[in-house]
Amino acid sequence: MKKYELTTEAKVNWLGKTLFRVKACVDFTTSSGDEVHAGDLGGFIEQETNLSHDGKCWVWGNAEVWGNAEVWGNAKVCGDAEVWGNAKVCGDAEVWGNAEVCGDAKVWGNAKVCGDAHIFSTKHIFCVTPVGASANSLTVFRNKKREISVSFEWDLYSLDAFRTMASGWEEHLSEVALAILDVALTHIDLSEEVPVLKPCPFCGSESLSVVYEDNLDAYIVGCDSCRASGSVGDTEDAAIKAWNERKEQ
Ligand SMILES: [Zn+2]
Repeated sequence: MKKYELTTEAKVNWLGKTLFRVKACVDFTTSSGDEVHAGDLGGFIEQETNLSHDGKCWVWGNAEVWGNAEVWGNAKVCGDAEVWGNAKVCGDAEVWGNAEVCGDAKVWGNAKVCGDAHIFSTKHIFCVTPVGASANSLTVFRNKKREISVSFEWDLYSLDAFRTMASGWEEHLSEVALAILDVALTHIDLSEEVPVLKPCPFCGSESLSVVYEDNLDAYIVGCDSCRASGSVGDTEDAAIKAWNERKEQ
């Protein structure tokens, strides 16, 4: 039986992919206790492979799941989160806020990813249960500033803020939490992303060129297919960055 259907409410995302809002066909309760009723609208997906009809998984709000990405099990994707590429979100995992989960990332188990998370590899996330007096899950991940964020009991912390809080816990709990942070820091890769040109947001072409413009004394990225161009940059990397951020304009 189908859990949901695609509606005709569509939007075209920054990559030019058409996504459709989903509508529940049955009543179910998510693993965190939220009720979804038949007829309720959810978030946006590109195709049915993006969201399993099995389990209690759901996409809410303005969240988007597209490409080869898959959400299954009891996972939840909500807020303005984007899940794409070959990413998998499963188990009881939750992704919300402005989080971006893409590439070959996997978010699973009890992991909770939020804020400006930017996870495109399994080297960008670390999740451990049980932590703290209530034996909850601690998720440590990479954010868009290439810094560490910590998600714990529905709150989002910087590394320092979490460390300060956990230092005040009962000795044994504190020791465990601080040791987990050390392991997470060893695991998580914060190195610079190799600048890869994102496909043209207008025509989807991957045929792009970075050129030096003599008269501007600057670099610029242009689409070889539709001739769209990005903002100028002082360096090739700056021009690539400007192009890749076009979706925010
Ligand atoms: Zn183009």
